[in-house]
Amino acid sequence: MVKRVVIIGGGAAGMQTALELKARGLEPSIIERDIELGGKVRGWHILFPTFTSAEEVLRPLVERVKSERIRCFLGQEVTAVASDGVMLRSGERVMADAVVVATGFTLFDAHRKQEYGYGLYNNVITSVDLERMMKSGRVTLSDGSEPRRIAILHCVGSRDEKVGQRHCSKVCCITGVKQAIELRRMCPEADVFNFYMDIRMFGPGYEELYREAQERYNVHFVRGRISEAAETINERIQIKAEDTLTGRPLRMTVDLLVLLVGMSPNYENRDIALSAGLPLAPNGFFKAKDSFLGAVMSEREGIFFAGAATAPKSLADTLAEASLTASAVDAYLKRRFNE
Ligand code: SF4
Repeated sequence: MVKRVVIIGGGAAGMQTALELKARGLEPSIIERDIELGGKVRGWHILFPTFTSAEEVLRPLVERVKSERIRCFLGQEVTAVASDGVMLRSGERVMADAVVVATGFTLFDAHRKQEYGYGLYNNVITSVDLERMMKSGRVTLSDGSEPRRIAILHCVGSRDEKVGQRHCSKVCCITGVKQAIELRRMCPEADVFNFYMDIRMFGPGYEELYREAQERYNVHFVRGRISEAAETINERIQIKAEDTLTGRPLRMTVDLLVLLVGMSPNYENRDIALSAGLPLAPNGFFKAKDSFLGAVMSEREGIFFAGAATAPKSLADTLAEASLTASAVDAYLKRRFNE
């Protein structure tokens, strides 16, 4: 009999895992709480470090899920998880021989950093809002004009004890570099300043892009953290920071302040962990069985992870990990059913 696998989450990790499982002759189903597949990638414009359109990556995944006739439960929330299936809010039970948790992450809520005035000042936006603007083809201020001076603030809601988020979100440094280059391309008259704590360029091609941002696009990098932002009478944003390289306080007025929001654990993690008996790591992401040979396994037999459910990850790493998850699920089912 064909073995069934339920995947919780219809983002990139969930879809790629489902496709890999299907290719191995298994029967995956996807449960997605949104009414569409795609997850966070649906909101992205272009991807680092190659400037590939997000659509170019996402569309083939969605089309293949459809053409492979993978069963999708859209607009459905999971209320309980066990290794033999999940319970949906509708009351339906979806039975399975294994479960994959691919619930991804939640974006940090920038309102929580009141000192930056997100939601209060029109020209303070998040990196996600900026991505949406770029997707629409134009970056403008609240009055419709083009910004001439832009500050991008790194580590908003990451590496921050005050909001209980000590972890590094890993991909926001390179996102900040990519967005700075895009801003220079879309608004060539604008000066772009990136305020950072450390620059973390861990992936292939990232360091090169960081250099290109400085040498070819003349993006300015200031080592320092903005302590507060205030609005001027003409809706410009005055920022206070300390340049931690020179030790000097700094004040600057910009037209647009972009907050690079980090990855928080998915808000559903606690409920899923409780119902399935899965441990969470201190940062609230799911705790994998171990960091080396069991990175996609949970401590409960029959329950696996894919993507950013366990830690912040880039899209490239997420897609690569999905294959690993499918392989681990397949090996587990063969072992369990003596095939
Ligand atoms: S990747 Fe960069 S911006 Fe993001 S949390 Fe880490 S250091 Fe901060």
